[in-house]
Amino acid sequence: MELMGTSLIGYGRGGVDGAPVRVKDPATGESLEPVYRVATPEEIDRAVALADRAAGLYRREPAVRRVALLRAIADGIEANRDEIVGRAMRETALTEARLVGELGRTTGQLRLFARVVEEGHWVDARIDHADPERKPVPKPDVRSMLEPLGTVVVFSSSNFPLAFSVAGGDTASALAAGCPVIVKAHQGHLGTSELVGLVVQEAAQRLGFAEGVFSLLFGSGRELGMALVKDPRVKAVGFTGSRSGGRALMDAAAARPVPIPVYAEMGSVNPVFVLPGAVAARGEVIAERLHGSVTLGVGQFCTNPGLVFVPEGQAGDRLVARLGELMAATPAGVMLTEDICRAYREGVETVAKLPGVRLVARGPREGAGLRGGTALFETDAASFLANRALGEEVFGPATLVVRCAGLEAMLESARVLEGQLTASVHGEADDWAGATELVDVLKSKVGRLVFNGLPTGVEVCEAMHHGGPYPATSDGISTSVGTRAIRRFARPVCYQDAPEPLLPEELRENNPRGLVRLVDGVIRLG
Ligand code: NAP
Repeated sequence: MELMGTSLIGYGRGGVDGAPVRVKDPATGESLEPVYRVATPEEIDRAVALADRAAGLYRREPAVRRVALLRAIADGIEANRDEIVGRAMRETALTEARLVGELGRTTGQLRLFARVVEEGHWVDARIDHADPERKPVPKPDVRSMLEPLGTVVVFSSSNFPLAFSVAGGDTASALAAGCPVIVKAHQGHLGTSELVGLVVQEAAQRLGFAEGVFSLLFGSGRELGMALVKDPRVKAVGFTGSRSGGRALMDAAAARPVPIPVYAEMGSVNPVFVLPGAVAARGEVIAERLHGSVTLGVGQFCTNPGLVFVPEGQAGDRLVARLGELMAATPAGVMLTEDICRAYREGVETVAKLPGVRLVARGPREGAGLRGGTALFETDAASFLANRALGEEVFGPATLVVRCAGLEAMLESARVLEGQLTASVHGEADDWAGATELVDVLKSKVGRLVFNGLPTGVEVCEAMHHGGPYPATSDGISTSVGTRAIRRFARPVCYQDAPEPLLPEELRENNPRGLVRLVDGVIRLG
């Protein structure tokens, strides 16, 4: 595939009038070809107009057609795997193994949503039959199901150049729900975005979908991104990135004359609690697993464990010492972008200066490119409780251990935590009876509770919930991973006494798709 550096608008291309942008190789600082062109206001308008027109046609496409589109995109990505992975390696400095795995996750997600659409149960079809004899008033026939919202704008993430980017989870779930998608590419991996965008564009055109079902635009968040979010023809937004970016989009969407939902996943510190029995039995093993999780992908994961609560005493000391040893021996990895690397280095410097904080270990920082050296800090529960800045995310391979005199100190610390994507608890059989209250507090703070494990490595499956109360996400209810993600881009529509030919087939009396439906309060299987 030839990279041209222009936006993909429907089945065409943007022009070369927009300002030039280049991607740099974060490992060498070298500027990569080609020059990218920022989408002009006219091009943005064209993409939105095409999507708006396509929305009405795409929502009426039968499920089998959406299934075919999702599978064709997955096949196309696999057919171009080497080219996509090669470009992504240059743009992100992530390893080949990581990117090959992520590409598999991306195609797996597309196929998972294809299956969800094929089965069709996600529409949550409900039928309450009429009862004309009911007294004192007759009961109407009432039916409802989830239906697509309309055009969705997706902001790609920097840290998953495939799985949360152009054809990632947000795009897959929006297309599956029946919504056209406009992707605002992340400026850290424009070439990878263009390659994947070409695959999506080709699949949609070859299968004869309405032009505008997909567009990919290049430009900045503050201009292109904001223009899209404020456009009245856009109906929802998916986002993965910083709290400041997510919050700006939430505020802009809420200030529109007609506000729209913004599903922003903004990361968290993912606290880990090591209970007394666990630290005594296997503190050093936990240290080794923590080290693997904190440094995975140079710490650039929203599920990176940034806070670890460890009991005071010798067993806890051994855990901290082992973790420090490992962190100090870990070479500095190359980070994704200049902004992320700068924010990480500043974050580490800031934490080091906070009162009550001790630097336990710093890894080497030398090496070419945007290097982020590891950092391990320690503090006590009183200092943690006194200074909320200690609970803030430092995006990269750093973590803060909070030493706690007992379970009560862990509990108090848990109570002041902000909303989180995850929390993890390490315990032995004897620990669990005393952990009920801690688990109860954590339940109210997080989307996913992990027992005797680490939060990195989010399984893509039906039951996964990758969300959490604000500020981990914008709405605290939805998930961006797992099949429930499709519900973000649909809303219930209710039909009262509708003539049969006007009902969607999912709600017709003879159930032509054989769906599981709730009929008169009873679940009916097919
Ligand atoms: P980011 O700065 O939030 O950028 C993500 C996307 O949002 C980009 O397309 C960006 O546009 C846009 N954007 C950012 N601020 C905006 C604003 N005020 N108005 C409109 N659009 C805006 O995230 P990043 O580049 O991936 O990394 C920066 C930091 O985000 C990291 O240091 C880390 O703290 C956090 N992060 C979190 C996660 C997570 O999983 N939740 C993932 C990655 C990063 P531009 O093209 O203008 O940059």
